[in-house]
Amino acid sequence: MEVDRAAVWNDCLEILRKEVDDQNFTTWFKPIVPLKAADNVLTIQVPSQFFYEWLEENYVPVLKKAVHAVLGPNGKLEYSVIVDSGNRQSPPVTVSYPNGLKSKQGQSSNGPVSSGEYTPFTYRVLNPQNVNSRLNPTYTFDTFVEGDCNRLARSAGLAVAKKPGITSFNPLMLYGGVGVGKTHLVQAIGNEIRSKLPEKVVLYVDQNDFTNQFLNALQNNQIQDFQNFYLQVDLLILDDVQFLAGREKTQEMFFHIFNQLHQTGKQIIMTSDCPPRDLKGFQERLLSRFKWGLTADLQEPDFETKLAIIHNKMESDGIQIPTEVAEYLAFSVDTNLRDMEGVLNSLLFHATLLKKEIDLELAREVMKNIVKEIQSDVSVDFIQKTVADYFKIDAEAMKSKVKKREIVIPRQVAMYLCKRFTQLTLQLIGENFGGRDHSTVIHALESVEDMMKAEPSFKNQVDELYKKLKTRVGSSSN
Ligand code: ADP
Ligand code: MG
Repeated sequence: MEVDRAAVWNDCLEILRKEVDDQNFTTWFKPIVPLKAADNVLTIQVPSQFFYEWLEENYVPVLKKAVHAVLGPNGKLEYSVIVDSGNRQSPPVTVSYPNGLKSKQGQSSNGPVSSGEYTPFTYRVLNPQNVNSRLNPTYTFDTFVEGDCNRLARSAGLAVAKKPGITSFNPLMLYGGVGVGKTHLVQAIGNEIRSKLPEKVVLYVDQNDFTNQFLNALQNNQIQDFQNFYLQVDLLILDDVQFLAGREKTQEMFFHIFNQLHQTGKQIIMTSDCPPRDLKGFQERLLSRFKWGLTADLQEPDFETKLAIIHNKMESDGIQIPTEVAEYLAFSVDTNLRDMEGVLNSLLFHATLLKKEIDLELAREVMKNIVKEIQSDVSVDFIQKTVADYFKIDAEAMKSKVKKREIVIPRQVAMYLCKRFTQLTLQLIGENFGGRDHSTVIHALESVEDMMKAEPSFKNQVDELYKKLKTRVGSSSN
């Protein structure tokens, strides 16, 4: 028996209005169109698959309550969903879910049925050429220096750039600390795809943009536009995903966008400051999806990579930088590459605008303003003595020519700590160790770094010494 569908839906809306706040009411219930009401079944049309899933996730209890109140305890709800076919040429089609409200466990078993009569919702199709991809054009593979620290991530990125959505690296999840090159690398992938596959819609957003866009869309009742836009993206890059922690609604939205894109073979790339297993404040189902594709880490750049980055950058700006200055910077800027970028820019400024020669003195001057150094008055003597005591060797051996391993390692550790605790150049450090030259010091610093990576027990020893000296810096006497 057919009844007045508009009246039935209006009665439902009256009940729903009391159950949800104004904003959600406008966003999720106003756009619904009643199609039919007959035999205890109300059929409503919703503008997208996403919309349907959102209602199912979030509003089943209130919808049930409303439908039961209006149609009686046997009242049921069915959906008619307008679905984007994913093809920009053909318009969206409509499908129905004949089983009505599916329960949380039991998914609707009948597949969607095509109809196609009602399409009151507008759907704007994106032209890839007009989409602002938000990419920085200087972040390319050409300007990204390859090193041990980023090799796996870079190759995975190249593979994805060649065949977005087709490799099993979907999603591609890159993680690593501050300034290790995550943003540069993911944007290089985006730039590469834009230039080689111009028909693809590429979008780079960081978590902050994504969240703000989503909240704005919610507030201005433009959720449809928001998701229609995202669902047409071929390559979605979401940077710094760790900041989605605790943002439940935004995660929910991202979850749906992720699923839809993934299902239709679109590529998703994300970055994070830690591996997915360590992310806190995320829904488990989202975390498990992060692990579907490939997870690769970027590590702190080693000395060689830093040197290459310095030379690359200076050369691309037409500046020659003396090797000793480059080496000095590669060792001294050990916070992160973003600080390095600051130091280099400042050096460029001095060299090009102030016509100063780039030498060690200028480099040291510039560093002081950008990198917070350990303010220290620990002397080389004191470091040598502390290290010698720790390893139970004679302090004089630090300056000797002895090449036995029991001596060489403490000597290298002492050089390493001198680099960290004093303002001395590599050359001066060398002079304090029996007149060794600066390349010997560089070799020592590299060995210590390598050994610290390879042997946790050795790293513990160096850390312990570091702490001893650090306490010393805190107290005034020396
Ligand atoms: P993250 O996003 O991991 O914090 P960024 O991508 O912002 O790091 O990198 C910081 C700076 O270091 C940027 O200027 C970037 O261009 C530069 N950089 C990082 N890694 C490399 C690399 N391998 N080659 C060249 N430049 C790099
Ligand atoms: Mg970044």
